[in-house]
Amino acid sequence: MKRILTGLQPSGELTLGSLIGSISQMVKYQDEYDSFIFVPDMHAITIKQDPKLLKERIRKNVALYLACGVDPSKNTIYIQSENLYHANLSWVLECNTYMGEASRMTQYKDKAKKQVNATVGLFTYPILMASDIILYDADYVPVGIDQKQHVELARDIAERFNKTYGDTFKIPSPMIPEVGAKIMDLQEPTKKMSKSADSYKGIILLLDDEKTIRKKIMGAVTDSEGKVYYDACNKPGISNLLTIYSSLKNIKINEAEEYFKDYNYGNLKKEVADVVVEKLLDIQTKYNELINGSELDKILDRGREVTNRIAKEKVEEVFSKVGLGRY
Ligand code: ATP
Repeated sequence: MKRILTGLQPSGELTLGSLIGSISQMVKYQDEYDSFIFVPDMHAITIKQDPKLLKERIRKNVALYLACGVDPSKNTIYIQSENLYHANLSWVLECNTYMGEASRMTQYKDKAKKQVNATVGLFTYPILMASDIILYDADYVPVGIDQKQHVELARDIAERFNKTYGDTFKIPSPMIPEVGAKIMDLQEPTKKMSKSADSYKGIILLLDDEKTIRKKIMGAVTDSEGKVYYDACNKPGISNLLTIYSSLKNIKINEAEEYFKDYNYGNLKKEVADVVVEKLLDIQTKYNELINGSELDKILDRGREVTNRIAKEKVEEVFSKVGLGRY
């Protein structure tokens, strides 16, 4: 059985973008693949975090994965920092990655620009991500389009290592959703809906209440043409609403276009809001049942045990091939 693996950083509250771009993919494919989903908490500290908030968000992320439909009997669910092998492998990979390759990562360039003092961790983060992926021989990595370049770097690093030291890692491929690979900010529809944005006005959080969700969608920036159809370049706001609707309804964009063709923008927004509210309220009900229960810890204990076993074997093989210690 092929393996899929993904993670969502606990660096902010998860958004509708995280759900559509990543978590929904995991839910869709969990019957077909051996599925791994984790909380990349070590990635989150590439940018300053409040320790107490970070700890809370790790737990929240896990509860949200489950509330969104990730089935613990079909997925291995774990926390990155509870497995010390991720960082161990990452170091070896760093020593096999070129400065030029790492410097080309567009997310690093964008995020570094926003920091007064960007850290070295922010720069090497894609290599830790490569480690997260190839440590478990993942075949596919369900991510939004913004993470494609990182998965491609993981491929390059794995291929180079295999060539230098002999066959060790599977070569992973990104798995990008057909619809919803990039959900845009409702206020600035040419920018990704991002949990680290300066304002939450254009961002729908998975835990937003109904009134807030409706207000944000009804206030979405559109255009003055008044006709509903998909054109991401010239009508980014309307196209984004069509994308959100199609993703949540599991239909194609042209089906949504056909359905809404005689709607005005106000009515379109209202129906998109209805669909988002229905989906998120259902997630929130499940989330509230899970967040304070003991089931989460049991699931995470199991994930820690399974992944440590797999990772130990892989890292010892790597150390041995590279010539480290007495492995
Ligand atoms: P930030 O927005 O703070 O940079 P991020 O991109 O790191 O956050 P995560 O929640 O860690 O966001 O991303 C988890 C997954 O969700 C990734 O695969 C990412 O590609 C996907 N994702 C996040 N935002 C969107 C979006 N707006 N549209 C589609 N996919 C998204």
